[in-house]
Amino acid sequence: MAERDYRRLPGERYDLSAIDPSDTGDYEGKKKGEKELEKRREVLLELQRKLHVDGRNSLLVVLQAMDCAGKDGTIRHVLGAFEPQGTQVASFKVPSEEERAHDFLWRIHKAVPRLGMVGIFNRSHYEEVLVVRVKELKPEAVWRTHFEHINNFERLLAESGVTIVKIFLHISPEEQAERLRDRQQRPEKQWKFSPGDLEDRVRWKSYMAAYEEALTLCNTDHAPWYVVPADKKWHRNLVVSEILIETLKNMDLQYPDPVADIDSYVIPDIE
Ligand code: ADP
Repeated sequence: MAERDYRRLPGERYDLSAIDPSDTGDYEGKKKGEKELEKRREVLLELQRKLHVDGRNSLLVVLQAMDCAGKDGTIRHVLGAFEPQGTQVASFKVPSEEERAHDFLWRIHKAVPRLGMVGIFNRSHYEEVLVVRVKELKPEAVWRTHFEHINNFERLLAESGVTIVKIFLHISPEEQAERLRDRQQRPEKQWKFSPGDLEDRVRWKSYMAAYEEALTLCNTDHAPWYVVPADKKWHRNLVVSEILIETLKNMDLQYPDPVADIDSYVIPDIE
């Protein structure tokens, strides 16, 4: 069960070095895994439709990862199962001048999905305790306060009907090197190659320390963190789908009541 395998209890420390990014759990290989994912995509679609018509809650999926870990692929292969009409993706880049002129949660809050919708955050408010920390973009005295602000903010969302799932796609530096080389060499992928990714790569250890602290301090019952071994793409997709199905099933989604005396209606014949 995803709850047990991929998350820690609130307060427990996340030790990323103890989680093998190439783990494939109990799954039986790529071929079977891809077939299984197809079935799960149908389950996800059905659950999302129910979320939409129920309308009492929204689902917010936060995706964080090192470069090349597969955020885009996860959105395409797993979250792509959802109806586009009921789904929105927000990607958070280096804050603009206007965004920097507000508190760090301003741009985030605006992108939270309304009730009935699924929202996907491709990067998130967590960048404020990750890249900001590692690259020393703000003093420690400032970013340290963010942990508490984040927990309070997520509690506000949860109490307003937003079910939050936070996923860290965990790849190994070796797998990232492979994927970077692939981007560097394959003409149709070269557009993705960014020298900035190499700057982040050399800070790998600092990023892992920052992730461990963020995951540990901001892992709550109402906004849990999951660590998904992501070296194997098929496995990553299966685990993310498992977490989402479980989360949606736990939401007790209901179809709205039908009109009164539904059986009494006769569908008119057309001549
Ligand atoms: P991605 O890597 O997500 O596909 P980009 O290549 O455009 O997208 O990278 C977005 C960049 O924006 C990343 O380097 C990320 O660290 C940076 N970023 C996101 N949020 C912040 C923030 N709050 N402060 C500084 N940099 C940020």
